[in-house]
Amino acid sequence: MEDLISSSLPGMRDLLPEETGRWQLVEEHARRIFARYGFEEIRTSIIEPTELFARGIGDDTDIVGKEMYTFMDRSKRSVTLRPEATASVVRAYLQNAMYRGGGLTKLYYMGPMFRHEKKQKGRWRQFYQIGAEALGSDHPAVDAEMIEMALWFLQSLGVEARLLLNSVGCRNCRPRYVELLQAELSKSVGALCEDCRRRAATNTLRVFDCKVESCQPHIERLPAITDHLCAECSEHFGKVRAFLDEGAIGYTVVPRLVRGLDYYIRTAFEIVSGELGSQNALAGGGRYDGLSEVLGGPPVHALGFALGLDRLVMILPEEQGAKGQGRPELFLAHMGEAAMKKAAEIARDLRHQGFSCSLDFSAGKLKSQMRMANRLGARYVLIIGEDELARGSASIKNLEDSSQQDIAIPDIAAFLKSHIQGRTA
Ligand SMILES: [Zn+2]
Ligand SMILES: [Zn+2]
Repeated sequence: MEDLISSSLPGMRDLLPEETGRWQLVEEHARRIFARYGFEEIRTSIIEPTELFARGIGDDTDIVGKEMYTFMDRSKRSVTLRPEATASVVRAYLQNAMYRGGGLTKLYYMGPMFRHEKKQKGRWRQFYQIGAEALGSDHPAVDAEMIEMALWFLQSLGVEARLLLNSVGCRNCRPRYVELLQAELSKSVGALCEDCRRRAATNTLRVFDCKVESCQPHIERLPAITDHLCAECSEHFGKVRAFLDEGAIGYTVVPRLVRGLDYYIRTAFEIVSGELGSQNALAGGGRYDGLSEVLGGPPVHALGFALGLDRLVMILPEEQGAKGQGRPELFLAHMGEAAMKKAAEIARDLRHQGFSCSLDFSAGKLKSQMRMANRLGARYVLIIGEDELARGSASIKNLEDSSQQDIAIPDIAAFLKSHIQGRTA
């Protein structure tokens, strides 16, 4: 006998049936809400050429530098498990020439992403994201509509969600702002942490990501990007805010909310939840008009967001979790061989009519079958014995209030239909 392989890789986990009901609920909700806003699902490959992420996310980011699952495949090609999906969606958009028809393309995705992060509580190396991308328009209403959709998705799940908003400028106005930042930072360079000193020279905007306490007073004194936008960026930001105001969508402008990569322009946003604290955004997004060109495509206006499912499922209100999956409407308890066959026949018939039924074929005593019905959370139990079988009837018990009555076997479907409210056949 070989040793039992009894654990998954570090940082990986299984989602068990008692949890997957909540996941399904969130996924179905996303499909419903996103479809209302005209987004269609795209499913890209989970594994991509490493070059896609090296270019699309940036060589000097922690993701690409330290966290990707990268290896040589059997054709000696460097491949990577996707650490996020935006680069893949844009790659698919270009590869399939989805821009050809012109106009706006609205796509959403959901699925696993992979990052070999340092082990910490609540962080998984295989984690799940839901995201959306709108490609082909720079209209500020597109930004506002996507933000509204992301917020409504969360709020309609009963999650408290707040919007943080910023504009990160563009290729015309940002370089001058970065120079200004560098000049300011050079004044206090001795007081900054090592990371900040390095970032000040290489990727200045990322100074705002610093969490080191002693750097904060210096970072807070830095000029705000929103005071240094060009006329076009300023107008775009003003319109995004006006559209949000018209929809009565509240937001806080946070000038520190920046993105480290050059292809991000204008709108940047995060959605945070009180339950998580400000360090832990539930969703993040923004406009990335330059990404297509970075990947070798034509210029494409685009924006998108991604939302962490693992955290969302964790903070989902209790009542949303109660609607577990697979809870049978009817459990069929039986005594004797003939009753078992009849129970299987009734179950088959009811399932074809749209009811969920469970039974235990190896069943022994009625008591143990009732225990199983309770464990599964069944609404009703049908009890069929030899006597009942001879009469063509059975006994049906409501497990919620313990009431019980006799019922003719052909009437079971009608009984369930009238007693289980809100079900659709
Ligand atoms: Zn600008
Ligand atoms: Zn620092």
